[in-house]
Amino acid sequence: MSTIPTNRTCIITGASRGIGAQIARNLGRDGANVVVNYRSSETKAYDVVDDIEAEGGTAIAVQADVTNKDAVDAMSDRVHDVFGPVDVLVNNAGITVDRTFKTMTREEWERVIDVNLGGVFNCSKAFYDDVKQAEHGRLINISSVVGQQGNYGQANYATTKSGLFGFTRTLALELANSGSTVNCVAPGFTRTDMLADVDEEIQDKIRQRIPLNRFAEAEDVSGVVRFLASEESSYMTGQILGINGGMEW
Ligand code: NAP
Repeated sequence: MSTIPTNRTCIITGASRGIGAQIARNLGRDGANVVVNYRSSETKAYDVVDDIEAEGGTAIAVQADVTNKDAVDAMSDRVHDVFGPVDVLVNNAGITVDRTFKTMTREEWERVIDVNLGGVFNCSKAFYDDVKQAEHGRLINISSVVGQQGNYGQANYATTKSGLFGFTRTLALELANSGSTVNCVAPGFTRTDMLADVDEEIQDKIRQRIPLNRFAEAEDVSGVVRFLASEESSYMTGQILGINGGMEW
């Protein structure tokens, strides 16, 4: 099984719920120092910290809206004070604001871009030097099958998730000299609050398009992220790994 070396420091953005929370629990179980970032779900973030500590791991929760550069920089200061430099950054925080393009406002377009790409910019800037200097530095971006296929009513979201492919490949090149890697996962539809927001009828239609005939669980995604965070993935960089139950793209 792939595990990360113990005492590495991993920060996961948007780790209070869903996929991010499961990634945090997995990395905590492997012996990492885990930073559970959240925006507003404070109780849930501390629940994730409690889960990690209950299994003998080490974690802290840090509030920061990833769209706010000053807040991200303050989070970086706090993380450095507590754990020192970061080895692994997982850019997971993301939102949807679904509308057909015809009815989508500029504000709805920008709100999604601000979190899903602006947040990635702020966090990657804040931890870039750490990841570069780390012995097995890892930058892992959470994209989506929607970035590969597009999706009705998600022009804003699909655009941000496709954008992460170019970002991943470019940073992989720019960090390659250091030996640190940059990869991306593109999960299919995963059973979290984000999917719960989708109308039941649409969920049924989506499920029919999945060859494995089920939605992903957060564990399906976190297992692959755990591998990308591990030493075993050292010769992989600039890759986009689909975790989508066999959906074509
Ligand atoms: P989720 O259950 O809705 O959780 C979203 C997480 O992101 C929460 O922890 C939330 O924190 C955090 N977040 C949102 N905006 C933030 C901000 N401005 N600053 C900091 N944190 C913020 O979502 P999920 O389904 O786990 O999705 C996680 C990632 O996987 C996203 O990037 C998403 O696009 C991607 N993904 C999801 C699916 C899916 O079907 N679920 C499929 C493919 C890809 P608070 O609770 O504190 O607000």
